[in-house]
Amino acid sequence: MEFVGIDKFSLLDYDEKVSVVLFSPACNFRCPFCHNGESVLNSNTPIPFEEIYQFLKTRVGLIDAVVFTGGEPTLMPELIERIREVKALGFLIKLDTNGTNPNIIEQLLHEGLLDYIAMDIKNSEERYAWTAGCQRINMENIKKSIEIMKNSGINYEFRTTLVKEFHDEKSIREMAELVRGAKQLYLQKFVDREGVIQKGLHEVNIEEANKFREILSEVVSTELRGY
Ligand code: SF4
Repeated sequence: MEFVGIDKFSLLDYDEKVSVVLFSPACNFRCPFCHNGESVLNSNTPIPFEEIYQFLKTRVGLIDAVVFTGGEPTLMPELIERIREVKALGFLIKLDTNGTNPNIIEQLLHEGLLDYIAMDIKNSEERYAWTAGCQRINMENIKKSIEIMKNSGINYEFRTTLVKEFHDEKSIREMAELVRGAKQLYLQKFVDREGVIQKGLHEVNIEEANKFREILSEVVSTELRGY
């Protein structure tokens, strides 16, 4: 199994923890605002897991956590086995996911292999596929992942990258139904930078982001991130 990127020291990817971040290849979404375009399009140089594992062994006691991000990590055939090996070194494990593979999330939780999950909520159900750059999406899987996380008993967060071209008051009101009763949602500021799949998209301004936060706060604790 091969990854396509590694951040050897991150203070941003796991709350209050120092982490190593591993980027998986490929994704089943094509979110136009995705910052990991090279991972998603599978165009980065592969790094064998064995190499990563040897590096992680040198980090025991020096870093707290390992973050599996993407691309979409749950598409990796040997993900569970690899997480078992990394967890056995004593690290906290965080999974970043788009929620399309609830069975993998469930299995990881069942084995006690996860300490934190972050799942993207792209938009309202009606706009979900469009926002994810897909023709169609199995929304039942997305909803199942949401429920699994809500009942997981571990730390988790949902997060939405706000993009002017995709989100408005109506879609945010409808999206609220997907996350009703969840613990935490972050509304993230979009930044048009190098590596974005589609150039020329725009951020949602702070006034509108605050309006969205107020709407969502009626059903879930909501904070802005990056504003
Ligand atoms: S934002 Fe996440 S789900 Fe969307 S294409 Fe990028 S890696 Fe995949």
